[in-house]
Amino acid sequence: MNFYILTLFPDMIMQGLHTSILGRAVQNGILSIEAVNIRDYTIDKHKKVDDYPYGGGAGMVMQAQPVYDAWKAVTDRLGYRPRTIYLTPQGKVFCQQDAKTFACEQDLIFLCGHYEGIDERVLEEIVTDYISIGDYVLTGGELPAMVLADAIARMVPGVLSNDLSKTTESFEDGLLEYPQYSRPEEWRGKKVPPILLSGDHAKVDAWRREQSILRTRDRRPDLIAHANLTEQEQKILKKSCNGVSDMIN
Ligand code: SAM
Repeated sequence: MNFYILTLFPDMIMQGLHTSILGRAVQNGILSIEAVNIRDYTIDKHKKVDDYPYGGGAGMVMQAQPVYDAWKAVTDRLGYRPRTIYLTPQGKVFCQQDAKTFACEQDLIFLCGHYEGIDERVLEEIVTDYISIGDYVLTGGELPAMVLADAIARMVPGVLSNDLSKTTESFEDGLLEYPQYSRPEEWRGKKVPPILLSGDHAKVDAWRREQSILRTRDRRPDLIAHANLTEQEQKILKKSCNGVSDMIN
């Protein structure tokens, strides 16, 4: 899968996305990440890419021409117009299902805004998806683009060393993941739940399922309403009011 990230700060993207798991995926040829510097495409002799907003108001607006030409350089090279995502607080709030959907694409273009945003006319021309990472305003689209690139890349087969781990993670089945423990068995007087040491895989699975459900109920009650629960689990959930239930008995 190939990411093309249109930005005024290519170094930020390249440093942020070429480390750890994504960096390894790039080295292995599963992923390519290219930061395209919008400033390289300005025709302004001072390399300016922004100007005052028509109608007045605070801040500057990124101009249409350099953004369009940077985008066109990528699409001309590819020979088609891939999905082009504009990172904006005015977009649909990104979720795990979006990561899975975007991961099916061969190429994706991300457009990072700055200042007060980008001239609307070029957005109308090139953007296919308006995506936000949450209801707050950041200074630029680079961090959101990196958030999306990371979440999407994890869904591409071969990027994670163990592809199975995706299937038990938070938001699968509409639930948060169960708590995890590693060595030592006791740390600062806190013991690993004994069932995890029992070697009884069926019981471990049942305990983890119960913990997922209870944790989701406590931390994200908005998710539990839509979670994929069996009738028995729903009954037990209703009965348990103090976080302890008999789901695994
Ligand atoms: N004036 C814009 C508004 O009120 O909608 C906000 C512009 S913001 C200061 C500058 C850039 O940061 C945006 O063009 C966008 O690319 C990015 N950005 C800021 N917050 C974001 C968010 N929550 N999700 C995605 N992108 C965001």
